[in-house]
Amino acid sequence: MTLSLFPSSQTPTARPAAAPSGWRGLIEEYRQFLPVTDATPVVTLREGNTPLIPVPSIAAEIGKQVQVFVKYDGLNPTGSFKDRGMTMAITKAKEAGAKAVICASTGNTSAAAAAYARRGGMRAFVLIPDGYVALGKLAQALVYGAEVLAIEGNFDQALKIVREMAETYPVTLVNSVNPYRLEGQKTAAFEVVDVLGDAPDWLCIPVGNAGNISAYWMGFCEYHQHQRCQKLPRMMGFQAAGAAPLISGHAVEHPETLATAIRIGNPANWERAIAVKDASQGAFNPVTDDEIIAAYRMLASQEGIFCEPASAASVAGLLKVKDQVPAGATVVCVLTGNGLKDPDAAIKHSENPLKQGIQPHLEAVAKAMGF
Ligand SMILES: *Cc1c(COP(=O)(O)O)cnc(C)c1O
Repeated sequence: MTLSLFPSSQTPTARPAAAPSGWRGLIEEYRQFLPVTDATPVVTLREGNTPLIPVPSIAAEIGKQVQVFVKYDGLNPTGSFKDRGMTMAITKAKEAGAKAVICASTGNTSAAAAAYARRGGMRAFVLIPDGYVALGKLAQALVYGAEVLAIEGNFDQALKIVREMAETYPVTLVNSVNPYRLEGQKTAAFEVVDVLGDAPDWLCIPVGNAGNISAYWMGFCEYHQHQRCQKLPRMMGFQAAGAAPLISGHAVEHPETLATAIRIGNPANWERAIAVKDASQGAFNPVTDDEIIAAYRMLASQEGIFCEPASAASVAGLLKVKDQVPAGATVVCVLTGNGLKDPDAAIKHSENPLKQGIQPHLEAVAKAMGF
């Protein structure tokens, strides 16, 4: 006699063969808002759907009744929001038959371009400013199989070269001057609204080339037009004090900041950024490297959220202008990239000393623990 664990009436039924796959990536999830057709060959790593996390210790710093969330886009497949734009840009490049793409990058664009281009079967060329790309990002570009060219110049010079390159040679430019990048990136605003049920009152965001702030604004405006949100946020952009052309009103020839992802002196989306600020009644403000690091540490050690230094500019900025936050406001700070991208910065700027030279005995460890 065969023993059965289940009486026949309770035999578990097999899952359907075509099981639902969960989140399918932002192009599938927001297809109706994006420039794709049924024939478009979607290149995706299931990016997007990143968490919106409450950060009560940051809210407490503001000293009035406010709700503060971070949009943790460092949890995308290559560790930054650049994946949102890159799934679109690479998908459209593939649709157009491109064989190679090129970008200039402070690091995250190159990691994303490399991953998506290779996944889509294309070559990826990336120009980086030699010595100013965080270790994790360089590691990614190399291992994903990009052809990495370090130039003895800064990001702005690299961008100028790749723009000309794409006009002359058979390579598609995937920097944020590529309009499909912003189309993909705008989906972050959709996700924020989908979770909150409306747009926040303030959206705080680090600004480098100003592609992301432009994309978020596009997203909020499109959702507003489709009555998915009732209000529009004030767009609060923050630049590193040593790389703050949008605040000073003129290009910075030698931008300097430890937040390398926003070490940009001549933003590619300059006019667009000013238009967003004006249309949203927002503001741009500078934050110093010390303020960035203070916010970076606070997020990690009080909230358990490890972002890269450039990302912490959004929280540093919020704290800097906290007196202007209206009571009762809902604020979202965008955390653009993952802290693991820049381990050097983490070790250098942690105030937490590593206790070394401990003997491998219970007593010695207990003593070092303070017991
Ligand atoms: C690219 C990047 C930024 C800046 O975004 P822009 O669209 O250039 O303004 C900020 N933070 C991180 C981590 C980035 O990778």
